[in-house]
Amino acid sequence: MNPANDFALQCPLPLRDYPVITMAHGGGGLLQHKLLENLFWPAFQNPLLAEEHDGAVAVLGDKPLAFTTDSYVVRPLFFPGGNIGTLAINGTVNDLCMCGARPKYLSAGFILEEGVSMETLWRIVQSMKSAAEESNVQIVTGDIKVVDKGKGDELYINTAGIGVVEAQALSPSRVQPGDAILLSGDVGRHGVAIMAVREGLDFETTIESDCAPLVEPVMKLIGSGVEVHCMRDLTRGGMATTLAEIARKSGFRIHIEEKAVSVAEGVRGACEMLGLDPLYVANEGRFVAFVAARDADRALSVLRSEPSCADASLCGSVLAENNPIVTLKNNIGSTRILDMLMGEQLPRIC
Ligand code: MG
Repeated sequence: MNPANDFALQCPLPLRDYPVITMAHGGGGLLQHKLLENLFWPAFQNPLLAEEHDGAVAVLGDKPLAFTTDSYVVRPLFFPGGNIGTLAINGTVNDLCMCGARPKYLSAGFILEEGVSMETLWRIVQSMKSAAEESNVQIVTGDIKVVDKGKGDELYINTAGIGVVEAQALSPSRVQPGDAILLSGDVGRHGVAIMAVREGLDFETTIESDCAPLVEPVMKLIGSGVEVHCMRDLTRGGMATTLAEIARKSGFRIHIEEKAVSVAEGVRGACEMLGLDPLYVANEGRFVAFVAARDADRALSVLRSEPSCADASLCGSVLAENNPIVTLKNNIGSTRILDMLMGEQLPRIC
């Protein structure tokens, strides 16, 4: 039998368990991973996709280029620290950075719902203009579609981006035993900021999303000569899911020290109130870097020299153990396994 036809003949488990798409299939957690693993990756399989990274890196001519895309459906459109437009630029810029690329050109596709106010659209486009300028990228092509009233949710944006790779190949498959893991700052702010607006929660101080471009710290880290093996931004599914994905792909156990994972007091309080684990809450301006152990201290000081990464920490390491799990030693000394996000924590977070 031609293996290329296998896919068409059978719908592998667990897709049969879910005859329709649920919100959790878009939540960045285990169900989304299964959807990719059982449906999209077998259908589209090729070596670039098989890297399971934030973008694809292809050599065209003599230049390695990174290419990525992302769609933005966040609700509400505006939140403390950003809006759907800033997310759409920074999210795609950051995925290019995670490939070790300097972002250059972006596309922007808008799906607008009939009736959305021109002022809303104007404000979002102005934010995109500023965010693009901040990361020195240009929006060079795009598209506009309008759907009937009630058939959209004001607006959705898709951006794709191209960047020039300036680093050695970075990918989860390059992660090695002994690698040190750096975390660029505190976690959980984006998810809590969205949740607070959505649920009308009032905290003493407004919690702002961490939505920000990562170009400066990433380029500085790469340019410093530190041997970086992999980077990944901590978006949907949070830090725990991101690390679980990398552990699965690399085949090695990842170990994290909770005391080195910073969570702002307001975020911790909100998470306790809402029953959320900050390690699973989405971020939009945080990343982890896997670097050669001998370069760990230097990498940390390079990151900390950037204002946006002043609280960077050395949060864990990759163990020489062929067991693709993530373990976390908590503040009282006991160890637990961090798996991918199960179900859906916060739908439509980005
Ligand atoms: Mg990413």
